[in-house]
Amino acid sequence: MKKYVSKYLNDEQISNIISVLALVLICAIGYFIITFYLDIKFIKSDMASTTAQLENKLAILQNTIAGTSNDLAQKLADQQNQNNDIGETLNGIASTVGTLQKLSQTDKELLQKYSKVYFLNENYIPLKLATIDPKYLYDENKTMQFHATALPYLTQMLDELQYDNLPTVVASAYRSFGTQGSLKSSYTVTYGSGANSFSADQGYSEHQLGTAIDFAAPKTGTLLDASFEKTGTFTWLINNAYKYGFILSYPKNNKYYQYEPWHWRFVGVQLATYLHNHKENFYDLDQRELDTYLVNIFDPIE
Ligand SMILES: [Zn+2]
Repeated sequence: MKKYVSKYLNDEQISNIISVLALVLICAIGYFIITFYLDIKFIKSDMASTTAQLENKLAILQNTIAGTSNDLAQKLADQQNQNNDIGETLNGIASTVGTLQKLSQTDKELLQKYSKVYFLNENYIPLKLATIDPKYLYDENKTMQFHATALPYLTQMLDELQYDNLPTVVASAYRSFGTQGSLKSSYTVTYGSGANSFSADQGYSEHQLGTAIDFAAPKTGTLLDASFEKTGTFTWLINNAYKYGFILSYPKNNKYYQYEPWHWRFVGVQLATYLHNHKENFYDLDQRELDTYLVNIFDPIE
């Protein structure tokens, strides 16, 4: 090859050509390297910028999600609060409805005062009467009735008296208007005009309710007599009858009726307890105040 080239070119020319070619080659290689390097740099920079953009978008998205979830959590909490409020309102309504229903089913006469000017209607009959077990009666051959719902309070009290060795019996319980009329006329025959003070309508109106009782203490043999107050039964009743919902309707020196230590009326444990604790009489309380106890009249014995 050298021989062939040397025919036309001398050694110096060949060397120059080689140098030029080498320079061109170096330049080409350099160009490629620089281009390649710049490309990578641009790609890198592009990627960095894209990554930054993506990260930015991701952050925005995360913020949006966080914001939305906070909003949702707040809305959920608000809704729950609203539901609770509605629940409370409903409970309140249910309780009011319950109270009203209880009141609508409770005989308003049961806590009514019967004064010399207000009498129980002659057509009045208790909602439900029950027959008293003859073992509790003064005269076991008689049939006596008492207000069906109040009867368990009465028998529980009589059982307790028996347990305390103070056997006590029922001399009189529910009396219809007709029975009272005939009773009154029989008193009228016996006592003449004095019957009005002994057997006035108002006193026996309580018996027409079915919740009043005349007690007798068979051991001491007292029957519808003021000496009943000297019996152990009377002392026991004064101290304990309220626990069973019973009160003494006509205490000594009351302004409404003659003293009847044997005559007790069921008014419910709550009212009887209030009267006992405050040493007050049923007939001295305002009717409106008495009526507030109506809803609890048949609450259980504690
Ligand atoms: Zn009586």
